[in-house]
Amino acid sequence: MTGRAMRGLRFRLTASYAIFFTLLIATSSLLFRQFLVISLDSQTRETLDQEWGALKGYLRIEHGRPHWYVDFADPDEAGIGARLRQIYVLAETNGIIKEESPEFRLLGLSGPDAIRSAASNPDHWITKANSKRVPYLIRKGLIADEAPPHARYYVAIGRSLTNNQELIRQFNWLAAGLIPLMILGGSLVGWVLAGRGLSPVLEVAKTAQRISGSNLSLRIPQRGAGDELDFLIETFNQMIERLEASFVQVRQFSTDVSHELRTPITILRGQLEVALMTADTKEQYHDAIVDSLGDIERLSHIVRALLLLSQAETGQVILTRTVFDVSELVRELGEQFQLPAESASVQLTIQTPPVCEADLDRIQIERMLSNLLSNALKFTPAGGMVALELHCEHDELTFQVSDTGRGIDAGHLPHIFDRFYRVTDTDGQATPEKGLGLGLSFVAWIVKAHTGTINVESAAGKGTTFLIQLPIRHEPLNQLREMKRV
Ligand code: ADP
Repeated sequence: MTGRAMRGLRFRLTASYAIFFTLLIATSSLLFRQFLVISLDSQTRETLDQEWGALKGYLRIEHGRPHWYVDFADPDEAGIGARLRQIYVLAETNGIIKEESPEFRLLGLSGPDAIRSAASNPDHWITKANSKRVPYLIRKGLIADEAPPHARYYVAIGRSLTNNQELIRQFNWLAAGLIPLMILGGSLVGWVLAGRGLSPVLEVAKTAQRISGSNLSLRIPQRGAGDELDFLIETFNQMIERLEASFVQVRQFSTDVSHELRTPITILRGQLEVALMTADTKEQYHDAIVDSLGDIERLSHIVRALLLLSQAETGQVILTRTVFDVSELVRELGEQFQLPAESASVQLTIQTPPVCEADLDRIQIERMLSNLLSNALKFTPAGGMVALELHCEHDELTFQVSDTGRGIDAGHLPHIFDRFYRVTDTDGQATPEKGLGLGLSFVAWIVKAHTGTINVESAAGKGTTFLIQLPIRHEPLNQLREMKRV
């Protein structure tokens, strides 16, 4: 399939190249032919003009009669005289011919009418073919006696244009023979070049074909040319890298989920088995059931979280926006988290304006802040500080959750919002209360659903700050109440 597609592409490239090449050659040949025609014509006119100048030196009108002053003893002069009179007519302006060469007669320009009209026309040039279709260029004009009675005669000399025509004909034949050959050769070169240009693409496609779910570690080798194809390869490799990472994540997730679920189930089973075998009193049964309920609670928490996240990510959770006072929610959360903060010996501070009304999904915002606060408390050792701040502006509100905890390594930072991503401990310390790595995925989804942005800054060992900005979609409470009343 790929091979066939490539052949199609190669053919199309060659065809476009051949068409372009043909147009180029045809246009330049036409232009060159035109140039040849024009320059041959002007060359002939120039020669005839020179001959006309010479003629005026040799042919003079004296006492009303024309005389040739040619020294026939001088072979040069004799030659010039003969050539001037080869295609030549001398006539009175009323049409009576005085001298005429046979070649000129064949042109049919020497009838009295023709001579009269030619003599009265100021244009110097006539082009005419004889009965054998040989074209001639004629230079004509009047020559006059300088002395009275200033007699005037009509004179015309000419040159055959056969040589010019022959040259152009030869050019036509040459072009007709060479142009198809050049186009054929050009297309062949185009075909080879297109093949050479496309062969790396074919290589890339073959490698890409070998990459499948099971060997995602395969990469297409760079060619080192630094061209567009290398850029394509790099982009493709990066895509595979991302795919591989998410494959690894999904695999990790399955392992994690089964592990997360298996542990409480095993414990649960153990507890129930032990209770069944050893418990005698009602109290002992009661304790076993209470323990089991705790584990069942953990299990249902995991299942709920998974379900909710998958629903959120497939767009099945729709925000239920209501206008409420976010400041109040922040204060409530502050109170709620005060107890766990105290028991972890962490100082929790809340900073919020007296009122901040916004049109948001209250439940999701509460979930988002709870996640961030519980993470901050979880990763901040005793003696540390956690702060939640709310800033309320006209069209935007900002939450800032900061802690002085263990921070997140720069290497992990870009991934913390990924599903199931957990920072593994490198310093050997026990991870405080193991999570599923879903909390921040939720936070990111909630921010996105509210068309907001989330940023995180962290320094390992120093602390972490999450900054969330949300557009308010302001509908002040009073206004809304009034609207409802109406
Ligand atoms: P979990 O439910 O496991 O906490 P999260 O998605 O909430 O998962 O967080 C992902 C990872 O980011 C955690 O495993 C943790 O290592 C790191 N993390 C999140 N918040 C903080 C924080 N405030 N301080 C340090 N590390 C944090």
